[in-house]
Amino acid sequence: MKTVSTEQLLRKIEELENRLAESEQLIEAIKAGEVDAFAINSNNQSEIYTLQSGDYAYRVLIEEFGEGAINVTEEGLIVYTNTYFFKLLDLPYEKVVGSSIFDFIHPDSKQEFNRLFSEALMGKSRGEINLVVNKKIIPVYISLSSLQPQLATVGIILTDFTEKKKNEEVILKYQNDLETKNRELIQSNTELASFTYIASHDLQEPLRKIQTFSNRILDKENENFSTGTKDYFERITAASSRMQKLITALLNYSRTTSSDIDYMPADLNEIVKEVKNNLQEHFEETGTVIEVRPLPVLDVIPHQINQLFTNILINALKYRRTGINPLIKIDADMVILPEIEVKPSGSAANYWKISISDNGIGFEQKYEDKIFELFQRLHTNAEYEGTGVGLAICKKIVQNHNGFIKAIGEPGTGSTFNVYLPIKNLE
Ligand code: ADP
Repeated sequence: MKTVSTEQLLRKIEELENRLAESEQLIEAIKAGEVDAFAINSNNQSEIYTLQSGDYAYRVLIEEFGEGAINVTEEGLIVYTNTYFFKLLDLPYEKVVGSSIFDFIHPDSKQEFNRLFSEALMGKSRGEINLVVNKKIIPVYISLSSLQPQLATVGIILTDFTEKKKNEEVILKYQNDLETKNRELIQSNTELASFTYIASHDLQEPLRKIQTFSNRILDKENENFSTGTKDYFERITAASSRMQKLITALLNYSRTTSSDIDYMPADLNEIVKEVKNNLQEHFEETGTVIEVRPLPVLDVIPHQINQLFTNILINALKYRRTGINPLIKIDADMVILPEIEVKPSGSAANYWKISISDNGIGFEQKYEDKIFELFQRLHTNAEYEGTGVGLAICKKIVQNHNGFIKAIGEPGTGSTFNVYLPIKNLE
């Protein structure tokens, strides 16, 4: 065991008493607010603790939070940077502290930064600029505040916008692509519409000739025809009259277009009344009962809405069940977007849902989309005569009104056609 002399012990005690006195003085001075900073030796390195810069918690916060934080003098000299900022610049701490903030501003942002900086010298400012380090551009959002009167510096918080800009660029690119595609689509739709129109229009002429000459031959040569030839000729006329119907339907389809001037406020009750009158005979013949609940007044293209009801009602009659009287119900309800299972492409939030239901043969739900397609039918012409264009026209009409149409069918029970029309059509 190491022996210590009394003299040595007394010296040690004196030394410790001195250090204690010094510490007590320092504590008294800190309490009295006479000390700004003091040095502490830890791990052989002296660190300065500034009492005025405050709480340790704040230092940690600035150091650790996920934004750049710097303090610059009024001349732009960086006197403090947190780790985030010098890492953002990809430079060592020593290369950032002591440099001028102006050295890191992209030439294109210089003017904007000067403005923000001089504004901040008198208070606060914020804006978006580009930094540049070793040719790398870093878009940032900066928020500057003068730290006067406590400090003659400007505090700057910088948010890295690199990802945001990248996302914006991607979105912008998508938007541009979408606009180009949209333009192309409009163009091809217009071309298609005029093609359909021209084709169907021009097909009528040769078809009329076929019909005229076969009728003449049938009239004149009827006696000389064998039964077989007569049958062939009758088939020719039947086929050409079907073709005539298809062409007329196609022409109607291609004519179902819209323009803003066609819209006008119309009472749907009146339109339905007109359609009912036109179909009165068919209703009577088939013993149809039709129940109509009050309908709204809407901004519509009246003759197209007339066509819409006509096509759906004709189908309700055509696809009736044998043995029971057809019952058709027309109803209207106001619905808001979240209640509608299909999200329409338009921006409207509130719709009128006009439903037309029948108690006819119905259809299998899986065919819902098919029946709205041009020339698509679920039956042969021998079973039910038709062109397969009626519902395609309905769909087009509803789309012209920024709405959408849904069909619900149950074989052997009936069908319901729900037409959704925006409450304010011309928004
Ligand atoms: P078309 O009646 O000339 O065949 P549509 O386009 O009007 O053409 O209808 C397409 C198909 O949808 C019809 O062939 C039919 O199979 C089905 N359909 C339409 N309306 C009804 C209805 N009310 N009940 C049952 N099936 C229907």
